[in-house]
Parts: sequence; structure tokens; C-alpha cells
Amino acid sequence: MSTTDGRTCDGARLAEGCETLGIPLTPEALSRFLGLGELLYEANAAVNLTRVPVGDYIELHCLDSLLVCKAIDMRRVRTVMDLGCGAGFPGIPLKIMWPHLRVVLVDSTLKKLRFAEEACGKLGLGGIRVVHGRAEERIGELVYKSDLVVARAVAPMARLVPWLAPYIKPGGRAVAYKGADIEDEMRAAEPVIRRSSLELEAVVPAALPGSGIVRNLVALHRPPGATSAATRTRR
Ligand code: SAH
Repeated sequence: MSTTDGRTCDGARLAEGCETLGIPLTPEALSRFLGLGELLYEANAAVNLTRVPVGDYIELHCLDSLLVCKAIDMRRVRTVMDLGCGAGFPGIPLKIMWPHLRVVLVDSTLKKLRFAEEACGKLGLGGIRVVHGRAEERIGELVYKSDLVVARAVAPMARLVPWLAPYIKPGGRAVAYKGADIEDEMRAAEPVIRRSSLELEAVVPAALPGSGIVRNLVALHRPPGATSAATRTRR
């Protein structure tokens, strides 16, 4: 895949970036990441799926999705929900990198979800479900089912936290992928985090390899046994 800025979407930058993150890339994963890029940009010509230019696919979609490993030991996670996955990010890269995961992709926009589902099929990725719906409408079958809920570029924390909270298993976590400047956002979210029976575990700054970008990964924890008014089942 060639790009107008001369950068090529080949695997070398991805392999290097993964090395920097301490998560070596298998040949199978590499070929799936490149295949996903091809499918994404082919489809993007007809349907608006992403605004990230193809030359930044490796950094802004693949490596960025994988940054979660700076906040969470992914080998200990079994079930992941990607809330507001769009065309499948970060959920599909997580499944490619850590094939033991069971992943649910959730989005309210059907055309993006359809792409994600088709792409997973073409890449031979099993163990991924797609669910069409709005997070706040409380998708019953997914409540308390995820060891890890991830969300990238979905909403400010104060709005996002009540959306994702019901889906975190007691003892589980959520990670929101955020930009550099999150102080105001976090201040506004503090009472919402408390009300959702979650704890702020850490805000982990993470440098995105191959770019000057620094992210903040906001990790939230649901203590074992903690349920919230919003998630308790009415009798
Ligand atoms: N996470 C993807 C997409 C970000 S765009 C990425 O980083 O590339 C935000 C996505 O969140 C959109 O696809 C939108 O449809 C979805 N979304 C926004 N609010 C939502 C909600 N309440 N429930 C489910 N999906 C939502």
C-alpha cells in the first residue's frame, strides 16, 4: 500500500513499534494487520469508515490500539468489549495481537459494524461478536460480562463512564484511550466514576511509537463485589 506522503504501509514499522512496546509480532499477526489495512482503505473509498490517512494506519490504528498493554497485562484478560468500536478499533487489533481473547464489538452505527464483521470473517478471526446498539440502552446480555471494556474516541469521560460501567465484571477493568490534555475531563468525571461504583486505578501516559504523540490511558476498576444502582437488576 503506497501513500501520497511516501510512507508505505509495510510491516517493518509495525514490527518495530511492537518491539518498542514489548509485544513481539508473529508473522500471522503481521499479515492480519496488513490485510485489515487493505480491507479498511478499500472499503473507505466507498463508505466513510476512518479519517486516518492510509500512511498513518500503522501508527494511528494498529500501534495506538495496542497501547493498552501499557496499562493492562493482556495475558490475564479473557473477555473484552470494545464500546464504540467504529470500524473495529481497538477491538480487532487486540484480537489479532492476543488471539486468546473473546471480543465483543459494539457500535450504534451499522455500516461501520458491518465492515468490522466482514473484515473479521475475511481475516479468519474467530471469537469476535458484533452487537449493534447504543451502550446506554443497557445491552442486557453483555452486562457484567467483560474483564476489560475499552473505548477510543467515543465521548468525554463524564459521559463515557456511565455507558461503559454496566459491562465491567466485578474485579474487571475499563481503559479509555485519551489524548494528552485530560485534566479538566478527569475532574468532571470524578463524581461520575464514584457514582458508578468504579475506582480510578491509574492514568498511564504512553508514547505512541513512530510518532511524537503521547496518549493517556485511563484505567478504571470495578472492585470485586461492587455493583451500582445503574447496573443492579430490578426484582
Ligand atoms: N473507536 C473507533 C471509533 C471512534 S468514532 C476508533 O477509535 O476508530 C466513535 C464511535 O462511537 C462511532 O462509530 C459511534 O457510532 C460510536 N458511538 C458513539 N456513542 C455511542 C454509544 N452511546 N453507543 C454505542 N456506540 C457509540
